[in-house]
Amino acid sequence: MDTEKKRALEGDVMSKMIAIYCRGNKHRGRTCTPQDADALCPDCRRLRDYALDRVAGCPRMEIKTFCSVCPVHCYSRDMREQIRAVMRYSGPRMLLHHPFMTIHHMWLDHQARKRARKEMHA
Ligand SMILES: [Zn+2]
Repeated sequence: MDTEKKRALEGDVMSKMIAIYCRGNKHRGRTCTPQDADALCPDCRRLRDYALDRVAGCPRMEIKTFCSVCPVHCYSRDMREQIRAVMRYSGPRMLLHHPFMTIHHMWLDHQARKRARKEMHA
């Protein structure tokens, strides 16, 4: 998988996770229909823009897989806390909403971890 494809997928996964989080917690005071997937509350929109910015500017996209396994923390402390909450909430739910994408993501993740371990012991 090439770097730009990986970058696009990471951004996509991030957006979806934040959307699930926002909707699930009824930040907008109601349950959005799936068509409103992008109708984020202002806070979540800010978080998503921030996350997508990090993904777009990530210098390690080539060697790492995804931000969730990256040893370099490019998120500010504040944003990291928020994105952690999102991951905790949306991680398990992703499998339900976007099973194929999640399994694909998990598989790539697994490959990267395996590679990283090998490098460490080389
Ligand atoms: Zn929200």
